[in-house]
Amino acid sequence: MNFYVMTLFPEMIMNGLSNSITGRAMQNGQIHLEAVNIRDYTLERHGQVDDYPYGGGAGMVMQAEPIYRTWEAIIKRIGKRPRVIYMTPQGRVFRQSMAEELAKEEDLLFLCGHYEGVDERIIEMIVTDQVSIGDYVLTGGELPAMVMIDCISRLVPGVLNNSASAELESFHENLLEYPQYTRPEEFMGKRVPEILLSGHHANIEAWRRQQSIQRTGERRPDLLEAYHASKQE
Ligand code: SAM
Repeated sequence: MNFYVMTLFPEMIMNGLSNSITGRAMQNGQIHLEAVNIRDYTLERHGQVDDYPYGGGAGMVMQAEPIYRTWEAIIKRIGKRPRVIYMTPQGRVFRQSMAEELAKEEDLLFLCGHYEGVDERIIEMIVTDQVSIGDYVLTGGELPAMVMIDCISRLVPGVLNNSASAELESFHENLLEYPQYTRPEEFMGKRVPEILLSGHHANIEAWRRQQSIQRTGERRPDLLEAYHASKQE
């Protein structure tokens, strides 16, 4: 899967994702990540990429032209027009189900805003999806794009050692994951639940399911409602 990120801070993206599981996936060629500096595509003499907002108001707005030229250069080079995701607090809120849908794409292009955001016309011209990572405002779209790329990468076949593990995690089927334990069997007087040591797979699975449902009800009743609704269907 190929990720392209249009940003003013490419090193932030590359440094942030070059470690651990995503870093290894890049090395193994399971994912390809490229952060492209919008500033390289400005026509302004001093590398300017933003300007004052028409109508007045605080802050600066990223100009349409350098973003358009960056996008044009990328799509010409790769010979395709992938979906363009603009990271914005005004977008649809990112969820696991959206990650599952986006993981089916071969290429994804992200646009990271900064300052007060981007000129609205560039959104109308090139953006296909507007996505938020939650109801709060960050300084830029880089962290949100990294969150999405990390999450989608885990769903790319081969990126996780055990392909089943992504399917059994929290949010799959609208349930949170059951509690996990590892060695030793007893830690500071606290024992691992006996059922997990029983070797009885069907009973373990039933216990985990019950724990998942209980935990989801306690922590995320909204998800549990969605779970029950989907079961009724
Ligand atoms: N003035 C904009 C507004 O009120 O909608 C917020 C601009 S924000 C300070 C700068 C950039 O950070 C945005 O263009 C966007 O790319 C990114 N950003 C901030 N919060 C975000 C969030 N919750 N989800 C996704 N992107 C976000």
